[in-house]
Amino acid sequence: MKLFWKSENIEEDGIIQDLRRKIGEARMPSPVEKIALQELETLTKIGPSTAEYTIGLTYIDYLTTLPWSKKTVDNLDLDRAERALDENHFGLRKVKERIIEHLAIKVLRTTRKPRVLVVDDEETARKNLSHILTRENYEVSVAASGEEALRVLDSRECDVVITDLRMASVDGMELLENAALRHPETGLIVVTGYASIPSAIEAVKKGATHYIEKPFKLDEVRTAVRQSLEQRTRAGSTKGTILCFAGPPGTGKTSVGRAIAQALGRKFARIALGGMKDEADIRGHRRTYVGAMPGRIIEEIHRLDSANPVIMLDELDKIPQLRDFKGDPASALLEVLDPEQNRAFTDHYLDVPFDLSSVMFILTANVMENVPAPLRDRMEIIEFSGYTQEEKQEIASRFLVPKQVREKGLSPDQVEFSPGALGTIIREYTHEAGIRGLERSIATICRKVARESLRTRKDGPVRITPDAVEKYLGRKSYRFDAIGEQDRIGVATSLVRTEVGGEIIFVEAAMMKGEKELIITGLLGEVMRESAHAALSYIRSNAAAFGVSEDFFEHRDLHIHVPRGAIQKDGPSAGLTIAMALLSLLTRRPARRDVATSGEITLTGRVLPVGGIREKVLAAKRAEVRTVVLPAKNRAETEALDDEISSGIDIRLVETVAEAVDLVLR
Ligand code: ADP
Repeated sequence: MKLFWKSENIEEDGIIQDLRRKIGEARMPSPVEKIALQELETLTKIGPSTAEYTIGLTYIDYLTTLPWSKKTVDNLDLDRAERALDENHFGLRKVKERIIEHLAIKVLRTTRKPRVLVVDDEETARKNLSHILTRENYEVSVAASGEEALRVLDSRECDVVITDLRMASVDGMELLENAALRHPETGLIVVTGYASIPSAIEAVKKGATHYIEKPFKLDEVRTAVRQSLEQRTRAGSTKGTILCFAGPPGTGKTSVGRAIAQALGRKFARIALGGMKDEADIRGHRRTYVGAMPGRIIEEIHRLDSANPVIMLDELDKIPQLRDFKGDPASALLEVLDPEQNRAFTDHYLDVPFDLSSVMFILTANVMENVPAPLRDRMEIIEFSGYTQEEKQEIASRFLVPKQVREKGLSPDQVEFSPGALGTIIREYTHEAGIRGLERSIATICRKVARESLRTRKDGPVRITPDAVEKYLGRKSYRFDAIGEQDRIGVATSLVRTEVGGEIIFVEAAMMKGEKELIITGLLGEVMRESAHAALSYIRSNAAAFGVSEDFFEHRDLHIHVPRGAIQKDGPSAGLTIAMALLSLLTRRPARRDVATSGEITLTGRVLPVGGIREKVLAAKRAEVRTVVLPAKNRAETEALDDEISSGIDIRLVETVAEAVDLVLR
């Protein structure tokens, strides 16, 4: 070993030199560069055979390969963005509109010259300042008095006001006071020939951020304006700038995110939050052992080699929220997203700040209710909802079939899906709000056709008809729907919202000899249990009105059961259905299977509004339910439904449980 020491040393020197050169070329912020050079210095002092040496080398190398100042140039052509969204997506009108609006604001913010208003009663002073600032590429307006300045401010948004103090008709102090009140986002700078400490204090109290004495140095004014503008962008960008796409799986969230990146000319990455176990997934591991790694955010930026990509953070509603010994991923995420903090995001591995403020984050979630409130408050939420049968049909024939045909190596003249076949797959082989299952089924058929075409080498296209669908996909899967079975006593149809969209479920009620117990089984969460108790108490206290004997609960047990579906469901909206199942049982009137209810109930039998109306109505249509009974307080949401969604379904609005009875029970 000793023998080779010398040559090894020379080689090590080479590595160190190489890293030094890389540090110089990496365009890091200077404090970071200093730290990198210090680390390198330490390395030269410890032997290359230690673990610290390897850790140090890897670390410095990582620092030098991060895109500190490497950004793609945004393409801010909105027409192009709109085309990019349209080309790849059918429908989604509202979603596209909201996104284009969001981008438009971004374009305005980035492209508009900052506006500065110069207020001074001396003409030469006005001219001088305005000359300097115009040369700095600001758009400058002038006013000769505080009064005139307020008029200008009221008529157009200004970013910064530079004002003199002594003026006739509304002096500088009064202007500050009024401007701070009426236009709190405008930056305020005072320039005065009569500077004094008391007046400086007063000006700052009234909202001025800078107080400059005449005669001033040009640089002083330039810096003050620049700092004031920076503060303003920081404060102004805290709210509503992060997009969050909310909706069931397979409704196009990821694919719209990708299209945004493509339209802007930015790189794109996805990070799933659902699988994260601890804070280190976001913030990285400290550099204490070989193999320690940065968090996912920095990793993706490193991989994409761009400091301003679009990063989609998936499954925001699945992020672990419990504060345990492994830290708190939700609060780490807050730091990543918060424009106040993310300029200096410090990953534990990097141990130096990295500026994330140019990254465009888009979050996705299935249901917003599960998202921690502090996160929810910072986002602009765009709802993606399930597709109607007709929309699915269009998307399949325009996008999914061509895409799968291409991906499976077929050409468009080798396979042809009839509209009937697509309808069959949608209605009978998939049961979903989005179109993932539909795409998967089309993929399966294309794969089988590709295999066959190799074997048979037949000319002409393979036609996929409804019969062929069964041949390729096998017997249709079990259909969980309203029709098909008879109406029964004690079984009522409910509409609930789950993570995968709306669903119908059947609530069952039974009665037997017992000790006045309410037994609740199946997939009922805490909230549903409470609804069941409320329903029972309401019926007991109004038994006579429903024609039920007052002592029906004496020497009896009641049992309510919701058969387990595949997915967790809880929430108060099954209350109305539970009441219907109980009333059906107690009055011996069968409940109509094709009438579905959704509504929270109170002890006095009033029906309260519920969420997810659109998803629920779509689910009702999928299950071929004919009538949907909803709370009258959801009138606005039901009226806002597109005709395509509400056509063919009878929506009834009720104020009370009693009103629902004759709609549901035979
Ligand atoms: P999500 O992220 O909401 O789960 P995806 O974006 O992964 O959904 O969408 C699933 C598939 O459906 C993708 O192949 C996507 O391109 C396609 N898709 C979804 N919505 C549309 C639409 N409106 N038009 C065309 N294709 C769509």
